[in-house]
This record gives sequence, C-alpha cells and structure tokens, in this order.
Amino acid sequence: MTTTLQPLDVAAIRKDFPLLSRTLNGKPVIYLDSAVSGQMPLAVIERMSHYEREEHTNVHRGVSTLSQEATDRFEEAREKVRAFLGAASTREIVWTRGATEALNLVAQSFGRMVVQAGDEILLSAMEHHANIVPWQMLAQEKGATIKVIPMNDAGELILESLDELITERTRILGVTHVSNVLGTVNPVKEITARAHARGVSVVVDGAQAVPHLAVDVRDLDADFYAFSGHKLSGPTGIGALYGKLAHLEAMPPWQGGGSMIRSVSWEKTTYMPAPAKFEAGTPPIAAAIGLGAALDYVQALGLDRIAAHEHELLAYATERMAVIPGLRILGNAKDKASVLSFVVEGIHPHDLGSILDSEGVVVRAGHHCAQPVMTRFHIPATTRASFAYFNTREEVDILVSAVMKAIELFK
Ligand code: PMP
Repeated sequence: MTTTLQPLDVAAIRKDFPLLSRTLNGKPVIYLDSAVSGQMPLAVIERMSHYEREEHTNVHRGVSTLSQEATDRFEEAREKVRAFLGAASTREIVWTRGATEALNLVAQSFGRMVVQAGDEILLSAMEHHANIVPWQMLAQEKGATIKVIPMNDAGELILESLDELITERTRILGVTHVSNVLGTVNPVKEITARAHARGVSVVVDGAQAVPHLAVDVRDLDADFYAFSGHKLSGPTGIGALYGKLAHLEAMPPWQGGGSMIRSVSWEKTTYMPAPAKFEAGTPPIAAAIGLGAALDYVQALGLDRIAAHEHELLAYATERMAVIPGLRILGNAKDKASVLSFVVEGIHPHDLGSILDSEGVVVRAGHHCAQPVMTRFHIPATTRASFAYFNTREEVDILVSAVMKAIELFK
C-alpha cells in the first residue's frame, strides 16, 4: 500500500522564521545555506529565552528546586535526542558542543583505547575535516596509518574496494552519512555490516543527515553517531554523540573536571558512569533545551514530509541548473540529500558567491571544510546551495536568475 504524504504548508512554516522576512543588500533574503547552519524557528528561540528569563541556573547541582527543575528540562532534552535517534537508552547520548567535538571525543577516548602502532583507520574520501583531522592527530600520536575509501566521479563511494581496504590492522572506519559537499547519502547500514563482519568499529558523522532523513541508530548498527544542533533547526554550541553503551562504559573519560566524577581525593579519583563521565563542567543548558524544542518542531512537521519537500526542491534545482551553459554540478549520486554544489566556467566560486549575495541569495562558497574532496575533483572550491523545509521553488528560480546574471557579468 502506498501512502500519499500531505505536503508541508511552507507559507505557514515561513512565518516561524523571522529572518526569512528581512532584506539583504536591499533584496528579500533567500536563505539557501542551511547546510552551513539551519535557521531556528520561533518556538526554539522562545523556549531558550524562557529558560534564560525564568529558569536559568546550573544543572546537576544539589537540592535547590530551581536546579532540579533545570536538570529535569536538560535531561528531558536528552531523552528527546534518544528518541529522535532511536537509541535504546539516554545513557548512550552524550552532550557535546557539536559534531566536531563528538568526533574528537570518539578519537581521543575510544580511538586511543583501540588504536595501537601499526593499526589502520579507514575514512571515506568525502569526509569533512571534522572526521579527518581528529583521526590524523590520533594516528600521529599512535604511529597508525590512515587509509581512504575512494569515490567515483558521481561522488559515490566505491564499496567494492572495502574488502581489500579492510585488513587485520583496521580498527575504525569513519564515514559521513551525507556529504556536505556532494549531497551523497552513503549506505551506512551496509558499510557498517561489512565493517562489523571484519571486526571493525564504525563512526558515523551525521551532521548533514539528521536534518534531512529519519535516522535509527539501532537499525544502522553504527558504534557511534555524531551530529550538531545548529544544522537541525537548533542553536549553536550543542550537539550530541550516540555511542553503544558497551563502548561508552569501556571508554576512559577525555576531559576532567566537575560533574564527571564520583569522588575525588589526592590518592584516587573515580568517575561517573556514561554519559556523565564525558560531560565535564557546566554544559550549554539553554542550548540543550533549545535543541529539544527543535526536535519537537521538526518531528511535528514530519521528517518524511521534510525529506519529500527537499527532494522535490533538489530535483527542480538540479534540472534548472544543469542546463545553464558552463555550469557543472558536483555530486550526481543516485541517492542525494538537499545539497547542490556547482562550479561555473570562468567564474571563481567566491566571486559567484559575492554576486549571489548582492542579489540577497545566501549560499556558501569555498572548500566546505572538505579539501580532499576539492582535490579529488581538481577544483579549488565550489558554490553550494542547500535547501531546507522552508525553501520554495520561487527561491530556486531566483537562485537560477542570479547565477545567469553572474554569467552575463563575466562574459
Ligand atoms: N561534518 C559535516 C558533514 C559537516 O557538514 C559539518 C559542518 N559543516 C561538521 C561535521 C562539523 O559540524 P560542527 O561545526 O557543527 O561541529
């Protein structure tokens, strides 16, 4: 039986985002940069503001009613993340500053524990620097080697290479669920199954996936899954790491301080169980509560409806952009999410980005913190439009006109 999804009421949704009504350089703002950072709906902004005005204090700090209330709200937000990711327990959800910190946590705690001299860490060719550099730092410290899963010209991982790339020495495989440059949705479940069959743990960078697809970490069976709040209609400064409980329990802490200890003496300090063991110091409480509100918001819209809307926009934008003379789209994977990267012959992506900016169109131009992807495609940078549930076909039309205008200017 096929069920027809009720389309999103985009006009109503847009009223939740004050920024979408402002102008930029005298033009209505066209926000096509959600892969850099998503906009927050009023419900999130107001929830955080309410916390700061009426509820603000510290969490996990003794008996005051106010602190207990803040702790409850903070832990409720953790439960929302657990449910959102389909994790078995809130003990598997560690608050972090974002995906970057989550991936550094895995490298510095789990990685240090399992990687020894001569071991190998396998990363996909389309990783963001956040899932490369922490592993390079670890590899350098331990005398380990980084190996790379290559991709084809369409921007799809060449999975046939996995059997050969995984060796007796491979300890960890790191892969992004969705590429921030190419939009490729990687078959994480299959990759995980193949890595596990060879005894390799899998770390997934979900920063670009969670805003666009329903994720079920138990179904994916990944060992770790990292994401950031600000790409998911939430605030900056908060993100989360999902880790299988057995791993989190076995892993040493990585930062020390208050909240992560059970007892401290000069002779011996003992630690709290996971996840507190990984959460030293005062966390960003308003941001965590705000992220909880963001999850409520996107779940009320429905991730399946969000995905359908964004897919439709991506298909429309691809169709319109592909016929522009001299324009090349990077990333033509069969399974793609919400990102359209392109280069235009004779115009540097930064110049193109500036012209689009003068037209009120916000896109990202640069290497997107994925320089090895640029090297793979022999380009210095791309211009990237990224779509969210509040974007419209009319906005795609304005993007296309602005690109055409840039081409005219550079003729
Ligand atoms: N991974 C991917 C795929 C990303 O797109 C980003 C953000 N550009 C990150 C990791 C890092 O996220 P954050 O800066 O929020 O830690």
